[in-house]
Amino acid sequence: MKLLEERILAEGIAENQDVLRVDGFLNHQVDPILMEAVAKDFAEHFKNEGITKVITIESSGIAPALLTAKELGVELIIMKKQPSKVLYKDLFQTVVASFTKDTSYELTMSKKFLDENDHVLIIDDFLAYGEAAAGAIRLVRMAHATIAGVGILIEKTFQDGRAKVKENGVNVYSQVKIKKLAEGVIELEQ
Ligand code: 5GP
Repeated sequence: MKLLEERILAEGIAENQDVLRVDGFLNHQVDPILMEAVAKDFAEHFKNEGITKVITIESSGIAPALLTAKELGVELIIMKKQPSKVLYKDLFQTVVASFTKDTSYELTMSKKFLDENDHVLIIDDFLAYGEAAAGAIRLVRMAHATIAGVGILIEKTFQDGRAKVKENGVNVYSQVKIKKLAEGVIELEQ
């Protein structure tokens, strides 16, 4: 996705060989025009899939996911991160290892909003090792809903998230693929 690629190259900061910071347009300050373009691209890609809900994980996926849901004419469900391991009977819960925080959290979703008649699109900002996406897939499946795919804005192909999602039998569509990061260096896949 050309607009997103250009923005990453212009403003992204490779903190080290693992982490890209995109605080200026996605993770802290958010550019609504760029998010709208991102959403139109996701909607175009998934328009014939019969999607009934878009799902994301709080918090950085919310902006692009909300606009994608609007484009597809469906509602958005935001999966929540909770530090506590208390079990709640009205929630689906699963443990996810966090890439950015080097810890783990409880990913949760209310049992109210999804059922076996739903076919969902999962949207997230980054795909690194695939733990977040795999957690979201587990929760969707607990609700017996089916999955059209995972839509990612920025995939780091040198980490193995795509394989992890594929292991779960789900396809990934990513808008930008990064093949290498190093301090001050961002290399995109063509
Ligand atoms: P994964 O679960 O695929 O290992 O990591 C995905 C999650 O970690 C994303 O939801 C995103 O919030 C965060 N993440 C992974 N890599 C990066 C990165 O390079 N930069 C930023 N800003 N977030 C990342």
